[in-house]
Amino acid sequence: MYRRNGFSRGVVLMGAVRGFARYFYVPTMMVGFNALAIYLVANGYRYVWVGLPILAAIGLSFAMERVLPYEDAWNEPHGDAAKDLAHGIVYEIANLFTLVVFLIISAMLPEWSLWPRELPIVVQFLLAVVFVDCTMTIVHYYSHRVDRLWRLHAVHHGVHRLYGFNGFIRHPLHQALDVVSGTLPLILIGLPVDVVVLLGAAIAIQLIVQHSNVDYALGPFQKILAIGAAHRLHHVNWAGEGDVNFGLFFTVWDRLLSTYQLPGARKPTIGDIGIQDCPHYPQDYATQLRAPFDPDGFCPKAFAADAVPQASQHTP
Ligand SMILES: [Zn+2]
Repeated sequence: MYRRNGFSRGVVLMGAVRGFARYFYVPTMMVGFNALAIYLVANGYRYVWVGLPILAAIGLSFAMERVLPYEDAWNEPHGDAAKDLAHGIVYEIANLFTLVVFLIISAMLPEWSLWPRELPIVVQFLLAVVFVDCTMTIVHYYSHRVDRLWRLHAVHHGVHRLYGFNGFIRHPLHQALDVVSGTLPLILIGLPVDVVVLLGAAIAIQLIVQHSNVDYALGPFQKILAIGAAHRLHHVNWAGEGDVNFGLFFTVWDRLLSTYQLPGARKPTIGDIGIQDCPHYPQDYATQLRAPFDPDGFCPKAFAADAVPQASQHTP
């Protein structure tokens, strides 16, 4: 009897945790952790403390991917663990380096500012998110259309599964392009460093939730948020599909670019993620750093043995 009660409690608890993963994972990530970051900055904590919500977001995503995976197989390494860890470390080191550079630039700027610094920090944060979402969506859009940019961006699409860490898998030069186009203009018009730090945290958290292998429910928010099934559709290797949904936070920019597409009945699963023209994109970090400069094109010949010969949506 005792054992049965214990078993029942376990079932109930697991059901509650799964319910959290389905309905509260996204709000916790997008609202909860950003609110915590805003609280820390607004109350004068050192910037290093903003690492806390980022680490919590990484931890929660890994936990929820095991509780309620969208695709079980995507939780298993695909020969990519060391490469992904290297990407994650470089991504965060580059972020810290960027913050130092921005601190120096901010210190050199005159006192006057075009940025509405008098507004509450929450409003400034939301304004900055909307601006960066717009610029990063445009950069992303052209990264699929301009050869030089696609070579860099292909590193992000050369994955064979989607999980929380995917967001950090970027060529450092493409990451720099995102930062320069998205954040530097705001710095130059006087965006306070406090908001820059919050923005960096928000982007990192958003990249995690956007690629999470968690079967979360979005309901009507699927039409507004550029995450979940909408972003999985961006990563498929299906012929004639995938060249849609470039947004990071919201779908509004894709609607304006006419690149918004609601997911259909077909759900991507194992074998459906990657680059159609380069099914064996290199999976070690050093080769991925060199790949964009390969004379063969974005897909080094050694990795394109089974490539489909005709041009696809990913070939600029
Ligand atoms: Zn892309």
